[in-house]
Amino acid sequence: MKAIRIHEFGGPEVLRYEDVPDPRPRKDQVLVRIRACALNHLDLWVRGGIPGVKLPHILGSDIAGEIAEVGEYLTGFHEGQRVLLAPMHFCNHCEYCAAGSQTLCREFTVLGNGVDGGNCELIVVPAVNVIPIPEHLSFDEAASVPLVFLTAWHMLVDRARIRHGQTVLVLGAGSGVGIAAIQIAKLFHARIITTAGDEKKLAKAAALGADFGINHYQHKISQEVRRITNKEGVDIVVEHVGEATWGESMKSLKPGGTIVTCGATTGPNIAFDLRFLFARQLSFLGSYMGTMGDLHQALKFVFDGTFKTVVDRAFPLAETRAAHEYMQSSQMFGKIVLNP
Ligand SMILES: [Zn+2]
Repeated sequence: MKAIRIHEFGGPEVLRYEDVPDPRPRKDQVLVRIRACALNHLDLWVRGGIPGVKLPHILGSDIAGEIAEVGEYLTGFHEGQRVLLAPMHFCNHCEYCAAGSQTLCREFTVLGNGVDGGNCELIVVPAVNVIPIPEHLSFDEAASVPLVFLTAWHMLVDRARIRHGQTVLVLGAGSGVGIAAIQIAKLFHARIITTAGDEKKLAKAAALGADFGINHYQHKISQEVRRITNKEGVDIVVEHVGEATWGESMKSLKPGGTIVTCGATTGPNIAFDLRFLFARQLSFLGSYMGTMGDLHQALKFVFDGTFKTVVDRAFPLAETRAAHEYMQSSQMFGKIVLNP
């Protein structure tokens, strides 16, 4: 099959379009012909080099396609079935997996990170990863969903324990996590403030349910949040930006408020005054991916049309390098998809 592989870490130039052997399913596995694989910032981190990645390596976490072969031990699947894949790998038998907390499993990793991913034509996965999709969802749309909706659901529902009517600040309206978080917060009738670098993105965020938009190039986020909330601040900040926004996120919280973070796109090193944390009784929560339960819950609202999928642009798999360069330019609103 054709695949995009990296043989060394570096910039977009290390992405190689090449032939690799077809994977073969075991009797307890499913072989999926990949029709779409969405990009995430994780692809850029893995390409640049993070621990635990064995070379050569196939990137790509968010996969949709058709079942090509079903292992003989499995029932309930058939060839040609349209599916998306849960974007993670876990042992599925330890105490954490058995309890439904797959992210705490010692083997837990993301497809395309600790194991090969979907920037290729075929992939073999366990049955637990395979989720049938409705006819009205295109492969590009289906691939745009799993990682970001699972992540945002875990952040808001499991970690920050969002309650009806709270005020939520979602950073980065045009990012995949931002798009998912706005819609999930809306499900809880939250008042949503979001940020983006241009008015077009803010208008699109409003169409998804954001009540207020802040252009972060024109305004200081915390000042605008104070103005919008009549100096109260927000209950929850959905963070994934990191260094560039952490101080503003802290200042945007009301006393007792929570920052929940799943990423550090602008850098991982932050500093803050510990007195601000304890005196205002703030909570800073880490969140990493989500459980299979989170994914199935979020997908119900995708499949019934409550949550909108947002695909910015599709590239042929052979042009993955151009897709990475486009992602680095931060022009997109929504997901960038590769088509093998
Ligand atoms: Zn496990």
